[in-house]
Amino acid sequence: LIFPPGHAKKAAMPPSDASLARFADLLGPKGYCDDPELIAPWLNDWRGLYQGRSRAMLLPESEQQVMAVVSLAAELGIPLVPQGGNTSMVGGATPPEDGSALILSTRRMNRIRDIDPEAGLAIVDAGVVLADLHQACREVGMRFPLSLGAKGSATIGGLVSTNAGGTQVLRFGTMRRLVLGVEAVMPDGRLFEGLAALKKDTRGYDIPQLLTGAEGTLGLVTAATLRIVPEAAECATAWIGVQSPQAALALLRWLETRSGAAVESFELMPAHSVALTVAHLPAGRWPIESRPPWHVLIAFVADADAQAQLESLLGRAGEEGLWTDAAIAVSLAQADAFWSIRESISSAERAAGPAIQHDISVPVEDMPGFMLATAEMVERAFPGIHASAFGHLGDGNVHFHVRAPADIAADAEQAWRDGQGKAASRMVYDLTVAANGSISAEHGIGQMKRAELARLSSPLHIATLRAIKAALDPKGLFNPGKLVPLASDETCQ
Ligand code: FAD
Repeated sequence: LIFPPGHAKKAAMPPSDASLARFADLLGPKGYCDDPELIAPWLNDWRGLYQGRSRAMLLPESEQQVMAVVSLAAELGIPLVPQGGNTSMVGGATPPEDGSALILSTRRMNRIRDIDPEAGLAIVDAGVVLADLHQACREVGMRFPLSLGAKGSATIGGLVSTNAGGTQVLRFGTMRRLVLGVEAVMPDGRLFEGLAALKKDTRGYDIPQLLTGAEGTLGLVTAATLRIVPEAAECATAWIGVQSPQAALALLRWLETRSGAAVESFELMPAHSVALTVAHLPAGRWPIESRPPWHVLIAFVADADAQAQLESLLGRAGEEGLWTDAAIAVSLAQADAFWSIRESISSAERAAGPAIQHDISVPVEDMPGFMLATAEMVERAFPGIHASAFGHLGDGNVHFHVRAPADIAADAEQAWRDGQGKAASRMVYDLTVAANGSISAEHGIGQMKRAELARLSSPLHIATLRAIKAALDPKGLFNPGKLVPLASDETCQ
């Protein structure tokens, strides 16, 4: 097979003027944009690694308009790239370079259709921004228990489609556990109506869950039914210094044994990531005076006296030598300042120079040893490189960053990425797989990891992905070049 089924057969031409005119007629001026200046910011990814082209951006405002757009695209054979907030870390929402596809943005589909506190459900349009859903839930004493650094831009459709994780997975799981129903327009333009939040449903394959994490390759999510939970009565936030990732995990297990599910977030950061971020933030300040090599950010929830409970627990943990320094936030503003450091690490590292990021997971108990050993091996194999990891230790998921040598010249960055960076990445992924881990814990595959997925997955895994893609999108028009490996990925190993 040269082109696996479910992939466009050849690099297509950009859509003709006549085709574009039909989309413009269908959507009207608010729903159609072909102004190159307005489209430009949506043609590359957040990290600035991929640059696509597209003659127009389609902005439907309802699922009916999406159905009409998708039907027309199917008739004309024009690929579509679903896009929400465009915060993908793997180039997932960037259109192909050949200009053949149109961007299908959900930005105007931003209605919160219903929030039902008693049932613990929210029905939300795909284009609703995560922070807006947080606010809407807060107003009725509820919360949507998933948060991440891109919450001001990332949309529900993007979060569903990447099976996003974030900082509360420890207690509430990834999107897969929070998505109770999905409505989506399938590649032939028909609407899949799966919003009912059924506790029991055994009608065969779970299609809402299939669409969750499908990265826009099987359909366009237009809305989702999400689980929401009562707002935490009280939440205490602590910043803790520890000597090693092993010490951090020991502290987590100690706290869990004594407080059940009260520890909602447990984020690990190396000191140099904190230093970089504190310097990057305009009002950045170290939360603790000393400079231990590792730092942990904890969110601890309770019905009452969260702060006192956490203080008492940490006091006892300190007596047992489980940490070296600690600060409990005394105000919401201080807690926000702690979180802002954690949530700005990616931005700070992006500003610090060329790096390759690996969003990986291994079994939780193995992660401390794995992250240290891998960093040491990568630095030894590639002198000058700096390797380190931060993130969701309690989920066995860290963002393992490999930074280029500090003195690298600007015009040598791409060569570094293609050479030493790529070889170092390969090593990180090989070690991850050898440790029974995953090369993508929460960011997805997009275009960045497609070839590595092909290299490191079983033939059965790849064949299954392709069979599903071919069955649901036989013309390969939904988000071409993302997630599902191409034949060329296997030949270029
Ligand atoms: P986009 O980037 O627009 O799209 C992502 C993918 O979903 C693409 O494949 C796109 O085609 C598809 N898609 C988008 N909308 C739809 C739709 N309606 N229907 C079908 N397909 C669709 N991710 C985490 O999981 N955890 C983190 O902690 C985390 N932290 C981040 C921090 C920062 C600073 C940044 C920039 C990103 C972070 N991310 C994190 C990654 C990113 O925010 C998530 O992947 C998020 O889910 C993407 O949402 P989006 O709306 O921006 O989607």
